[in-house]
Amino acid sequence: DPRLKAISEAIRVVPHFPKPGIMFQDITTLLLDHKAFKDTVDIFVDRYRDMGISVVAGVEARGFMFGPSIALAIGAKFVPLRKPRKLPGEVISESYVLEYGKDCLEMHVGAVQPGERALVIDDLVATGGTLSAAIRLLERAGAHVVECACVVGLREVKGQHGLNGKPLYILVEPR
Ligand code: 5GP
Repeated sequence: DPRLKAISEAIRVVPHFPKPGIMFQDITTLLLDHKAFKDTVDIFVDRYRDMGISVVAGVEARGFMFGPSIALAIGAKFVPLRKPRKLPGEVISESYVLEYGKDCLEMHVGAVQPGERALVIDDLVATGGTLSAAIRLLERAGAHVVECACVVGLREVKGQHGLNGKPLYILVEPR
């Protein structure tokens, strides 16, 4: 797809953020580039519009920047998967291991009905730990996770390791 090169180039790489040694993939510069941003959303919409998906679940915070546009275009609802203690209603929680420490994602009870077909979206996948927690939340609610989609991903996780066997769709590799 000829659009992918421009999408990749619109993502700024910030060395040593948020700590020394990390090459941070900054998607805020992709959001500044109307053509690249629209192409990104369009590629996901073209892929998912006829897959019977009724739920797009976005991971806080950068999954919120792509998920709602995709949801509106494919006729699905958007469900935010949030960091702890942000959602006001009753929640279910799934914790996951990070490189240093632990984190947790929460989803409102009742946001997703049993049998619904869900897409999980985030900006970037590294180890897949975050997406795995998202998958567990949706499956606990009885949803079927059709696929996980990210703008940026490492080739290693493309082989679906650690995603509970769920397929992963990635647009570009980190630079
Ligand atoms: P994982 O759980 O797959 O190891 O890490 C993915 C999560 O970390 C995502 O929610 C993603 O937003 C965040 N993340 C880790 N590294 C980066 C990065 O370089 N750029 C961006 N934008 N997000 C990152």
